[in-house]
Amino acid sequence: MLSVKGLRKVYPVPGGEIEAVRDLTFDIAPGQLVCVVGPSGAGKTTLLKCIAGLLAPTSGSIELRGTKVVGPPHSMAVVFQEYGRSLLPWMSVRANIELPLKNQRIPRAERTKLVDDALAAVELSHVPDSYPWQLSGGMQQRVAIARAVAYRPEVLLMDEPFAAVDAQTRADLEDLVRHIWQKLGVTIIFITHDIDESVYLGERVLVLSNSPTVVQEDLTIDLPVDRDQLTTRSSARFNELRGHVYEQIQLAKSRTLSGPIPATKKGHKS
Ligand code: ADP
Ligand code: MG
Repeated sequence: MLSVKGLRKVYPVPGGEIEAVRDLTFDIAPGQLVCVVGPSGAGKTTLLKCIAGLLAPTSGSIELRGTKVVGPPHSMAVVFQEYGRSLLPWMSVRANIELPLKNQRIPRAERTKLVDDALAAVELSHVPDSYPWQLSGGMQQRVAIARAVAYRPEVLLMDEPFAAVDAQTRADLEDLVRHIWQKLGVTIIFITHDIDESVYLGERVLVLSNSPTVVQEDLTIDLPVDRDQLTTRSSARFNELRGHVYEQIQLAKSRTLSGPIPATKKGHKS
């Protein structure tokens, strides 16, 4: 479905440049739920913006179903962390969700059905006429998710979407993501700095190193498909996996502290 090949991204800054992403290569199969975890400043948002076609790679490429991404593809939707800024305060919940559908000139009757389905999927069917500012943070983020899934994207990109909500709301939203994933069969790339969240949500976790970024580890999460906050998080396997990811991230940090990864090593990688 999605292929990231030798992605490198360098930002020009006054007096030099910042190499945010050094060399990322991975493939994502249709319908996978993949979490990308890495410390702050590791280049996660940079990676997501490149995948979404919002930022051009310095070198390497992104391919969606074999076609190179050169601008935002119609079949991708993004949910950002700042839900407050991404919803239009003067429009009702329904109008916010409907907006991208209108822009795509989808006929009214079909739009209404898609919005109703999206509202049901995020359990907000009772507040279509409310305004975003009348809702809690968690509900606003549900609206943002509904807007993203309403036009049935093939790929849903989420960049630390729950970093700004309280723990209980966050747990509910995590379960919502797995619910939507199971129901819609959409491919999801979920970016987070939270190790536990990555293991709880993902079928697979890509651990990124510190900047300049490479894939430190590509881990299969062999937890049951049906997960719940209590049972899953207290299982022995969950704790083994989170311990493993934690170790990998510590390893990535110590590597950066002892200097950059030597160029020779990078050159010999497959
Ligand atoms: P993350 O999302 O993992 O926290 P980012 O992708 O936001 O990481 O940033 C990776 C690195 O690139 C950081 O060192 C950051 O300061 C730098 N960076 C991000 N965006 C820009 C930009 N527009 N210009 C210059 N440097 C940037
Ligand atoms: Mg970020």
